Amino acid sequence: MENKNNVIHDVVKSMEFYRELGFEYLPVKEEDISDYLSGTGMSIAQEEPVPLKGDKRGEGQSLESLQEEMAGCCRCKLSGERKNIVFGEGHPDARLMFIGEGPGREEDIQARPFVGDAGKLLTNLIVKLGLKREDVYIANIVKCRPPYNRNPEDDEISTCISFVKEQINLIKPEIIICLGRIAAHALLEVKIPISKLRGNFSSYDGIPVMPTFHPAYLLRNPKDKWLTWDDMQKVLGKLKK
Ligand code: SF4
Repeated sequence: MENKNNVIHDVVKSMEFYRELGFEYLPVKEEDISDYLSGTGMSIAQEEPVPLKGDKRGEGQSLESLQEEMAGCCRCKLSGERKNIVFGEGHPDARLMFIGEGPGREEDIQARPFVGDAGKLLTNLIVKLGLKREDVYIANIVKCRPPYNRNPEDDEISTCISFVKEQINLIKPEIIICLGRIAAHALLEVKIPISKLRGNFSSYDGIPVMPTFHPAYLLRNPKDKWLTWDDMQKVLGKLKK
């Protein structure tokens, strides 16, 4: 009995510790602790769990509300010549999230990411991974097309990047794939050439990030497609674990 009291005392202390950290419930299954509960008259409450503090979905935030928040955004100078904001698309609970640098001409017209020639290559890659486009989430670092498809500038990236970070926070993918130098540098805050970054996992907010070549680069340098395929094998290997 004394041993059981000690266990209960430790559990109470642990719960107080997690409560101070901001947790309002712990995801414990009844079957996992049934031995401890037997004979105590205690049971696990069956109500819907209260979301953890910081769980944006639980606070009514969603990809849809984020998109509404961005409507008509003029926070940076890219708003001047865009036709559409290209928010991103895909499964809201995607295990894989692809992030490119910014919309091109076709994306700007259709308000969808990766729908031009580079997008077709990306879609083929996703299919070769045994997935459908709808299974993954695809977004860009900046949501408006840089004029003449120039690279997004530092001030534009630093203004817009909070949106893609919020998308990551809401989707919580298992793995992020950064397509090209700009996306990798912006998310990982490094300045290492993509040829050295690619093929090795880095981390953003605890999520593994695989930098690889941008599909537009692969269209110009098809001989390097096998390198990206190699990177994707590493992603698949980690995803299956
Ligand atoms: S690129 Fe981003 S920050 Fe700039 S106007 Fe478009 S949505 Fe707003």
